Amino acid sequence: MICELCSSDVPRTKLVMVESAAVSSCPKCEKYASSGAVKTKEGKVMLPSVAERLGTRERRMRQKDILTRGEKELAFDYHQRVRKGRQKMTMSQDDLAKSLNEKKSIIVKIENGDIRPTDKLITKLERALDITLKEYLETDDDHGSKQQRSEGMTLGDFIKRE
Ligand SMILES: [Zn+2]
Repeated sequence: MICELCSSDVPRTKLVMVESAAVSSCPKCEKYASSGAVKTKEGKVMLPSVAERLGTRERRMRQKDILTRGEKELAFDYHQRVRKGRQKMTMSQDDLAKSLNEKKSIIVKIENGDIRPTDKLITKLERALDITLKEYLETDDDHGSKQQRSEGMTLGDFIKRE
């Protein structure tokens, strides 16, 4: 029999109630079950020490995740940034096009969000308008995969909030 709280193989387990979940517990964990065990979002129940150990591993994995995610991407509102930056400089689209040695139609399309500027043009725009067009991608519900998110959970996430 496997104790669901400490995962050890024991001769016998007993069903105990932890936060309204029935859990097979070994005699050793039994005394913690009613008071000390925590319930995860997934409905798993474990001892705080076990959850803590898991949490430490999750944190380390998340740390690594952040370190490997270092690419800057074109900001989603790049067209607004270009327009605002140009207006701040009191330049017309014509002026900006000339100063960058680009066609006005390119500037218009960029400001409308119709086209994404090339890396070279991004650099030119940033310098000419004193703006930032690239930023580190944020992982959110739309873009971050569910798998990554669950790996990045902390102990705080594990403990079910009532
Ligand atoms: Zn146990």
